[in-house]
Amino acid sequence: MAKILCVLYPDPVTGYPPVYARDSIPSITGYPGGQTVPDPDALGFTPGQLLGCVSGELGLREYLEAAGHELVVTSDKDGPDSEFEKHLPDAEVVISQPFWPAYLSAERIAKAPELKLALTAGIGSDHVDLDAAIKAGITVAEVTYSNSISVAEHAVMQILALVRNYLPSHQWVVDGGWNIADCVERAYDLEGFDVGIIAAGRIGQAVLRRLAPFDVNLHYFDTRRLPEEVEKELNLTYHPDVQSLVSSVDVVDIHAPLHPQTYHLFDANLINSMRRGSYIVNTARAEITVRDDIVDALRTGQLAGYAGDVWFPQPPAPDHPWRTMPHEAMTPHVSGSTLSAQARYAAGTREILEDYFASQPIRDEYLIVAGGALAGTGAASYTADGKASPGAE
Ligand code: NAD
Repeated sequence: MAKILCVLYPDPVTGYPPVYARDSIPSITGYPGGQTVPDPDALGFTPGQLLGCVSGELGLREYLEAAGHELVVTSDKDGPDSEFEKHLPDAEVVISQPFWPAYLSAERIAKAPELKLALTAGIGSDHVDLDAAIKAGITVAEVTYSNSISVAEHAVMQILALVRNYLPSHQWVVDGGWNIADCVERAYDLEGFDVGIIAAGRIGQAVLRRLAPFDVNLHYFDTRRLPEEVEKELNLTYHPDVQSLVSSVDVVDIHAPLHPQTYHLFDANLINSMRRGSYIVNTARAEITVRDDIVDALRTGQLAGYAGDVWFPQPPAPDHPWRTMPHEAMTPHVSGSTLSAQARYAAGTREILEDYFASQPIRDEYLIVAGGALAGTGAASYTADGKASPGAE
């Protein structure tokens, strides 16, 4: 019998929804490239339900309790007096979502001698100190691909929202105005722009495919170059480094994992080497940028806009400068937590738990750390070189 400690975001302020906007969600049967969708023995929820909040419990309670395990679900995750820290010392499994991350720092891992599995219900395990997890022999797993398309759609939306000046124009409607000139003085077509993607992994490639029909010039940089046929098919210009990419484009869209190589990559130096009036969209991780350098660049006009859904820390303080900086189109960390995505990552979480409790191998593509080393997707996407994953600090 194990204790499973699950950290989820709070319920809606209006309470757990009695009814949804739509009656069902489409059934997705596979991912691009052939990876199969999660395949647990059973589901403890109806796809389309709100699962990522405390009352949603990722649909896990019945299954875990029937197997004799204890499930603790809380949103109280920060500080030494939090419910999370209270339950950590005897937890065998910690489940957390990047949208409301339970930061598993080295200090916290040291307080969790029973911890064997840190499971990310979603994608991106930088809230776990991967070096500390490696040393402690903890398996880190995430539900690879579960929300990649969800994030790609959000990134495309935010690129268009910035370039076309959507949110300020919408605000004129709400305010009772019809101020065409005010709306369009910052509005452009995306067509003909140079758009650069940093990291052409699952999400980055999905964005490239979605942007290709917009008749833009597509560029990318990734430490692993794409096959030649993909570059040809999408008419991609490859750049050998970030500097080359950012100085060649009008829009930069970031999809790299946060690890020591990408931590604070977008500082004033790099931003000042971009074309004046560039846009940045970042749905990867906030700490790939230097917070105040983004604000400064928006104020001076070096950047024409910044959007994304990732912040640090999460949740950010009410006075976080990204809430009020000019020309932003930020959302909270929601791109990967649509009701559609939740159905997939909740099913994937259950699949991983079923494998773990049956002592069966967890799918390789779900693994980030296993057996005291980076493994599976983790070995391809992260570095563990003695420096902590910065997001876990
Ligand atoms: P992926 O593993 O499929 O792709 C990551 C890509 O990054 C790989 O192609 C890898 O080669 C490349 N890469 C690694 N280090 C790099 C570097 N220094 N420079 C350039 N490229 C580098 O991952 P994915 O599913 O596409 O997700 C990417 C990231 O997006 C995740 O790590 C996560 O942080 C973030 N994410 C955000 C959300 C959200 O809700 N906003 C949801 C899912 C994932």
